[in-house]
Amino acid sequence: MPPHGKTTVPQEQLQTHIDRARKCLREVYGYAEFRPHQDEVIVHVMQGNSAVLVMPTGAGKSVCYQIPGLLRDGIGVVVSPLIALMQDQVDAMRQLGVRAYYQNSMQSAAEQNQVRELIQKGEVDLLYVAPERAVKPGFMQSLEGCDISLLAIDEAHCISQWGHEFRPDYRGLAMLRQAWPHVPCLAVTATADEPTRHDVAAQLGISRDDVFVTGFDRPNIQYTVLPKADARKQLMGFLASRRGEAGIVYCGTRKRVDSISQWLSDQGFEALPYHAGLNSETRARNQKRFLREDDVVMVATVAFGMGIDKPNVRFVAHLDLPKSLEAYYQESGRAGRDGEPAVAWLSYGLGDAVQIRQMIGEPSDEQTHRWTELRKLDQLIGYCESTGCRRNMLLGYFGESRDVGCGNCDTCLHPVETWDATVPAQMFLSCVRRTGERFGVGHIIDVLTGRETEKTQRYGHNQLPTWKVGEEYGSSDWRSISRQLVAMQLVGVEIAKYGSLRLNEASWEVLKGSRTVELKKETRKPTSKRSRAKAAAGIENPSDPQTALFERLRDLRASLAAEQNVPPYVVFHDRSLWDMVAQRPANLEDFAQVSGVGAKKLERYGEAFLQMLQDPE
Ligand code: ADP
Ligand code: ZN
Repeated sequence: MPPHGKTTVPQEQLQTHIDRARKCLREVYGYAEFRPHQDEVIVHVMQGNSAVLVMPTGAGKSVCYQIPGLLRDGIGVVVSPLIALMQDQVDAMRQLGVRAYYQNSMQSAAEQNQVRELIQKGEVDLLYVAPERAVKPGFMQSLEGCDISLLAIDEAHCISQWGHEFRPDYRGLAMLRQAWPHVPCLAVTATADEPTRHDVAAQLGISRDDVFVTGFDRPNIQYTVLPKADARKQLMGFLASRRGEAGIVYCGTRKRVDSISQWLSDQGFEALPYHAGLNSETRARNQKRFLREDDVVMVATVAFGMGIDKPNVRFVAHLDLPKSLEAYYQESGRAGRDGEPAVAWLSYGLGDAVQIRQMIGEPSDEQTHRWTELRKLDQLIGYCESTGCRRNMLLGYFGESRDVGCGNCDTCLHPVETWDATVPAQMFLSCVRRTGERFGVGHIIDVLTGRETEKTQRYGHNQLPTWKVGEEYGSSDWRSISRQLVAMQLVGVEIAKYGSLRLNEASWEVLKGSRTVELKKETRKPTSKRSRAKAAAGIENPSDPQTALFERLRDLRASLAAEQNVPPYVVFHDRSLWDMVAQRPANLEDFAQVSGVGAKKLERYGEAFLQMLQDPE
């Protein structure tokens, strides 16, 4: 991050800010230490400075405005566009004993009046407000005569026309800045490229020197790509050890969403569908169940996910290719907001890539958008076919380069072995040539492996010199070889002609022996599941009694949450439950040491959990 030499304050004063902030983190939130950069930003704001903060999802942006909002005098105003989630955000703060309220258009007049009264009585610490409400004159009036401690703007990229989610209402927020020139403003977002960031700063009158960018890495997400074979079987293999966990399965079409969610339900999963073809009631109901329950698998098109900030989404699986690497970063990024281990799983087949290529169409010189789309597709295929670290490829896309592997993606965990495939590549290309460059992958493989079909007979391809020449490899080996040859563009795909293969310059180099071909071996062990929530609590491989106790605590959490009509994670995160299993606190004093147990939660839930820990039956 750039150095921030804005206001030079005495060292003692800085230390006081840091101490107060840490005390608040411990007492209110029950967390032992700040995450990287949180303290830096908090101290910057506590001194009265404004900033734009770009931090990846789950890194802990909210704390960065909540703590200064609580510690500075007056009301902290938080502008947040997600009305549907405002209630949950406010519930989570109330659970910590913070006097948080919200104002939005879904409230009745009576509710609005009640909040206004509390404001005037000085009984509000944090006030959440929707942007369309914040720009109405009534909102400013309701705060007349009040001290404002800070103005926080969540999802701040919405203010910029360069961003992909521009919201006209956000433009009006500049007005609040003018009305409160001495109030520090913290604009936070997880997605902002450079032009967007600078635009956000400019719109809010924040200096470019006060833009904090902490990187795009999501270290707790494990990236895995599988060459698509039998997608359902692969998905089941992936989900088998994840029963009871919340996750999202993205599919390319509505039809597939319906069939996959039905099939997962038949297999005993709490699977629900979500796509734009369902009526809004069903969508709202399914979304609510996903947010409120712990073990729902949402099977969805990309219509689902915008602004879903459920923290304990443990996996995001893609059964079909996303549109671009950028889209993949966003969609997979909905996993693991709580910082605990999560998996981004992608099943990738050459057929998908060919289909997308056909959908984009053959671009002519002037059709720049098609070229752009094709380039994006190639970057995505590059990611899928990579033999190097997947995280590094993803971060490279955002301009962050790294030399060493991350140790938490499939290629790092199980380094890819390569083999010299020059000879089979030559067989394959020669077969493409001998069959007249008119057929797709399937037929070429039939000829190479000598599989009699109606087509091989009709065209007399069983008479060719390449007939059965590739017998030593199975058809799945051939599928892997051909997919990689296409991905590496060592053979061309005719877009207009149903994906028939044709030779290109590179193919001829291989055929003539002036170019060798290194391909990946593709039989890999499945990646192991290791939860950092458990690991952090000192539990690597939970024994059955430990898991059983965790389940009991989870049930208790669910019933306490249901009583109050709040989502379970608002009561405690999984991390706290595992910490209880590991520490087995026997009294309130010990219980206070559990991660995520602040003063209020100790008072509210200590007894109930202690009792369960002592007598789980
Ligand atoms: P973001 O808004 O950046 O996506 P949040 O602010 O929602 O992320 O934080 C993600 C999770 O991490 C929340 O559950 C939050 O309580 C937790 N968290 C934030 N800061 C800390 C910390 N210093 N120590 C432990 N947990 C933290
Ligand atoms: Zn890696």
